[in-house]
Amino acid sequence: MARYTGASCRLCRREGVKLYLKGERCYTSKCAIERRRVPPGMHGLSRRKPTQYAIQLREKQKLKRIYGLTEKQFKLTFARAEKMKGVAGDNFLGLLERRLDNVIYRLGLAASRKQARQLVCHGHLQVKGRKVDIPSYLTKPGEEIAIREKSRDIPFIREGMEKSTATVVPTWLELDPKEMKANVIRIPGPEDFTDIQVDEKLVVEFYSR
Ligand code: SF4
Repeated sequence: MARYTGASCRLCRREGVKLYLKGERCYTSKCAIERRRVPPGMHGLSRRKPTQYAIQLREKQKLKRIYGLTEKQFKLTFARAEKMKGVAGDNFLGLLERRLDNVIYRLGLAASRKQARQLVCHGHLQVKGRKVDIPSYLTKPGEEIAIREKSRDIPFIREGMEKSTATVVPTWLELDPKEMKANVIRIPGPEDFTDIQVDEKLVVEFYSR
């Protein structure tokens, strides 16, 4: 299925929680969840008790929407996580976190993961000195991520860099705002994605049916 291009706030209203898809607006009173916490569509809230399948499905959709992946990409990432050693749910979140677009968002260089994805796609980033324009690129410990030389003077990138100094960068990453560079220190663990309010066990159950 193609990437969703509709209204982001609609997705939050469907899940009934803030997914933080729109950057600064999400922290203001203009947030649609603050103003109208009902699912989109003419039928509103269902009065029926959700089935176990429905609960698992909603949790899966929530996680997929937070990271902005298509179902195919999401499923492939899960399949990869399942083959890794350790807990499948933690591996899965770790793989999602290590995506280049997410790293850019975590560093505070973009206001949302969607904007971070655009930065990567437009070729403004380099990893280990080479241009990378693939948002799903999986970063590894020891890799250096930098804004490309020719992109450093673009006003919105410079602005993002200035804002990033106010961001709390996760401990598995290290940012050098002056040099417009960052390093991946280690593989992120469960302690690094406590802000993702999703029960990943339900997502694992969904795909293990
Ligand atoms: Fe979701 Fe942000 Fe829209 Fe609020 S403003 S509904 S958090 S995308």
